[in-house]
Amino acid sequence: MQIIEHRLHHDDGSPYSFVETPNKSGRMNPQYVVMHYTAGPSAQQAINWLGNSRAKASAHVVIGRDGEITQMVDFNTVAWHAGRSNWQGIRGLNHHSVGIELSNAGPLMRSGDEWVSWFGQQYASNEVVEAVHKNQTQMRGWHLYTPKQLYAALDLSALLIEHYGLKDVLGHDDIAPTRKTDPGPAFPMDSFRAHLFGRPDIIEDEEVFETTARLHIRSGAGSQYRPLKGSPLPANTRLSIIAEQGSWRQVEVLDEVNGLMDLEGWVHGRYIRLVS
Ligand SMILES: [Zn+2]
Repeated sequence: MQIIEHRLHHDDGSPYSFVETPNKSGRMNPQYVVMHYTAGPSAQQAINWLGNSRAKASAHVVIGRDGEITQMVDFNTVAWHAGRSNWQGIRGLNHHSVGIELSNAGPLMRSGDEWVSWFGQQYASNEVVEAVHKNQTQMRGWHLYTPKQLYAALDLSALLIEHYGLKDVLGHDDIAPTRKTDPGPAFPMDSFRAHLFGRPDIIEDEEVFETTARLHIRSGAGSQYRPLKGSPLPANTRLSIIAEQGSWRQVEVLDEVNGLMDLEGWVHGRYIRLVS
């Protein structure tokens, strides 16, 4: 695929399908990709809704479960996908990001052997992952993305990063963590970013990390686990990594912290960085 005048085209020069929406505003220079799920039954339903002025919402593209991409807003034009949001001091990510909607039912409730969405559709257990959202504490069911859909999103993200020099790929749940849960735990954000930015997903034992902010160290891999005695760790506390689970890292604290030595527990991997 390629981008010509801010629209997606196939390698042979033919355009991807484009469905106009009135839900857009001025020009922008994108710096990020923001991933979303549609929380709906199909890509077509999402496209119909986002193309309707009553929705007061839109995205640059919608990716179906078959991997088919439909564009709705030019990549240099503001789409309305992020809402109240902020990331590293930037407020209102609509003005700074390309929004990608992935057709997905979102969080699901158990119903006997099956799972059911908020709109009443049932899903078999092989279409669902049970997980605790990184911003929540309760286990829930989450509709899985399809491999075709994830590969399409990966290809498109790589192209956008190259074409616009984007800085990062984020989730709506990263930039609006108190309001939003999409794309949620079923989206493989860590490996996605590792593919796109070459960030290491295998970490060697000898490497020393440090905390980038005051950071809770917990008894398990999730925010539902209690902080350990000695928590929170101050910024710039040195750590070594023992194990990984999702975005969580089991660490050994190398410094004496709050009067305690040999502290060992789990921290969120986003708030540590490699120092050697
Ligand atoms: Zn969203």
